[in-house]
Amino acid sequence: AEPPAEAAVPQAGDPGLVLLRRIGVVDPGDLDDYRANGGYAALRRAFEIGPAAIIREVLDSGLVGRGGAAFPTGRKWEATARQPDHPHYLVCNADESEPGTFKDRVIMEGDPFALVEAMTIAGYATGCHKGYLYIRGEYPRAIRRLTHAIETARSRGLLGADVMGQGYAFDIELRRGAGAYICGEETAIFNSIEGQRGEPRSKPPFPVEKGLFGKPTVVNNVETLVNVLPILLGGAPAYAAIGTGSSTGTKLFCLSGNVRRPGIYELPFGATLRDLLTLAGGVPEGRTLRAVLLGGAAGAFVRPDELDIPLTFEGTRAAGTTLGSGVVLVLDDGADLVKILLRIAEFFRDESCGQCVPCRVGTVRQEEALIRLSKRPDSGDLALLREVGRAMRDASICGLGQTAWNAVESAIDRLGVFSPASPSTFPSTEAK
Ligand code: NAD
Ligand code: SF4
Repeated sequence: AEPPAEAAVPQAGDPGLVLLRRIGVVDPGDLDDYRANGGYAALRRAFEIGPAAIIREVLDSGLVGRGGAAFPTGRKWEATARQPDHPHYLVCNADESEPGTFKDRVIMEGDPFALVEAMTIAGYATGCHKGYLYIRGEYPRAIRRLTHAIETARSRGLLGADVMGQGYAFDIELRRGAGAYICGEETAIFNSIEGQRGEPRSKPPFPVEKGLFGKPTVVNNVETLVNVLPILLGGAPAYAAIGTGSSTGTKLFCLSGNVRRPGIYELPFGATLRDLLTLAGGVPEGRTLRAVLLGGAAGAFVRPDELDIPLTFEGTRAAGTTLGSGVVLVLDDGADLVKILLRIAEFFRDESCGQCVPCRVGTVRQEEALIRLSKRPDSGDLALLREVGRAMRDASICGLGQTAWNAVESAIDRLGVFSPASPSTFPSTEAK
């Protein structure tokens, strides 16, 4: 496939940008600058309409989670708000660790007050007085800026015992992760905050009923939360008019790999993968596109003849892949696919928490089989790989094990890796 033609790249301040509109425009350390650019108007409206109406707006907006699983945010909020057991907790999942994902980082570094404001609204709507911001430890600049934003908001009456003089008490505690990918799984976050080993819990019960400290807990990703600001400011119908019927609003995409302009792109849902690659300038001069990994290590590869896939939750699902949290890893004809698969398998083997057998053993067996296949594609290990992959998908406790075979499976089935005709079948020089 030819690299797509050039297209105009949205710039800071572009009116088409919703979530990124303040990035590169406001001083992330200056609350007054944030307020001068629309900050805290959404919280003011939230106090005017009250918790039930906020949840109604979020339900009507069609907002679904942006961490990767696309669960309806309003349903989560509604379910938490109605729990009779108290206290309720809010957890912002900022442990962004999916390989190739860096969208939450851009928000947290460039517009930290937006996240503090959005958490306050979420807490108010769901009856929480305490919010935990669980952030990836490898994001030191985001940690510094958010710490400053939380302290500033507290000192100016936007957090604390009487938020905005409305008689509502809410505060945020920032907790840093310590480098374990699995601690981004929502129930492993609870264990981590509680001082336990970062291992996922079985679901159900879902966090909305029994989460942090065994109490009703709403867990939302950073990007999900900041979407609540435009929903409250513009109203649910205006928000729902962006995108498609089932995927409303805009989405942040993380472009990386063999692409001319890597970075974060914000597009309304419904743009195609081809549109996105065009914005990013396509593959470097003289190269051809080999594949795109959509949805990260837990996602699936797509071929160059599949670029018209609409970037929506329903469109990617219909095409047998996933949007995940918005990873778009571009590979050109110089990429060593086998080496990439070995790296993905190593990643899952390394990051498995080891709690359940299918994942603890399966991720090791998957890596071993791939190593053998990388040396001898006719080693007969494809059948074993499939069997191990199915066992991990069907019997693992959490999403890590359940998705550890996705990318490998798609590389075999869609890209023909390890098939005799595939150029990627040549033994990788990096193979152990
Ligand atoms: P999940 O489908 O189990 O749940 C999604 C959310 O919906 C959770 O908050 C869950 O509690 C809630 N939920 C589901 N059913 C519910 C119900 N009946 N009632 C109330 N709440 C309910 O998915 P998950 O394991 O939380 O997340 C998996 C996703 O995480 C994958 O799609 C992957 O792409 C993504 N992921 C993202 C990153 C990242 O860095 N952003 C890292 C790893 C994985
Ligand atoms: Fe741990 Fe893997 Fe089981 Fe998840 S699937 S609980 S990461 S061993």
